[in-house]
Amino acid sequence: MATEISSLGEFGLIDRLTREFPLVNESSVLGVGDDAAVIRVPSDKELLVTTDLLLEGIHFDVRYVPLMHLGYKAAVVNFSDVYAMNGTPKQITVSIGVSSRFTVEHIDAIYAGIRIACENYGVDLVGGDTSASVTGLVISVTCLGEVEKGKAVKRGGAQETNLICVSGDLGAAYMGLQLLERENTVAAQSGDPNFQPNFSGKEYILQRQLRPEARKDIIEKLREAGIVPTAMMDVSDGLSSELLHICKASDVGCRVYEDRIPIDYQTALMAEELNMNLVTAAMNGGEDYELLFTVPLTDKEKIERIDGVRMIGYITAPQLGAALVTRDGGEIPIRAQGWNAFNNPAETEEVEVVEETAGATAPGDAASAESDGETQGES
Ligand code: ADP
Ligand code: MG
Repeated sequence: MATEISSLGEFGLIDRLTREFPLVNESSVLGVGDDAAVIRVPSDKELLVTTDLLLEGIHFDVRYVPLMHLGYKAAVVNFSDVYAMNGTPKQITVSIGVSSRFTVEHIDAIYAGIRIACENYGVDLVGGDTSASVTGLVISVTCLGEVEKGKAVKRGGAQETNLICVSGDLGAAYMGLQLLERENTVAAQSGDPNFQPNFSGKEYILQRQLRPEARKDIIEKLREAGIVPTAMMDVSDGLSSELLHICKASDVGCRVYEDRIPIDYQTALMAEELNMNLVTAAMNGGEDYELLFTVPLTDKEKIERIDGVRMIGYITAPQLGAALVTRDGGEIPIRAQGWNAFNNPAETEEVEVVEETAGATAPGDAASAESDGETQGES
């Protein structure tokens, strides 16, 4: 089916897209349908607000990113920002700009992904905006969240001797992107319209790129363990870049051990296959959406008992700067080499929109609920 958006009209489209979003949170007093949504903020809470803008050709490529995954990811990366403040995401608004090569079914797919993300994380869609676009697909998600008054964890609270911790593993989403780009190039060169990319044995890195999760679970575990990080942020631009943010905001330095950086086996295999430096990929790849945080040294034992969190280094005095301690005990200054959207933006072409990527589990698939983050090895 390919229904032209103009056949529905703006209001018909909004109605269709937002129909299946029931409000589940008490704080969502009024959702879609009026001039503004109404949100209740309890007197003991503070409101968190975060926005992410995704532009076709800059942040995603519709040739290999299925639209349902794109919708899911657009929502989840915002949830991740709210968790990284020690908060709970509650509402989102979604604004889309759509060019004429997209059909109603394409936009349906994006919203199907958004809906699954909202269901999984208990978040309400309460509004948005819809416009035509002449520069491809644009999606902007704003997320509202709440946090106990005065309990937001910022980037600026890290102190000397604090332990640096990171959840999950790093570099997998980046290697997943490398894989997608390679298979896309191979497909284009083959000239075969039925070309089937081979993703077997690489499901994890693909999932990490196409369908990341926000670490709600880690925030809950920290809370249960009575741990309040001194500083925290999510890893979206790469560990190096985020470490420097924490160091700058907190006016401290850091030492991070190369052999402590958590890396999944599939990430290591892919790096080897592509002849790329594994540690560089893990330090600078980005889009991991893991949590990077610092805790007082006295929390060491508590941290050790939390599954899925690894201590990777410690905070130092500012004069010592930020450095990676290599396996042989040498020190390399940490520099931000994070992926940067202002480098080489590609032109939006008239490209075919993919419906599905083999090997990537759809967001709604129950089997995809447990991601395989356990196979990390000391690489
Ligand atoms: P306005 O003219 O006041 O901007 P709209 O007609 O754009 O109102 O939107 C009507 C209602 O639909 C509002 O509640 C708005 O938040 C919501 N809305 C519009 N576009 C979207 C969208 N893409 N996703 C979700 N909600 C939307
Ligand atoms: Mg509007």
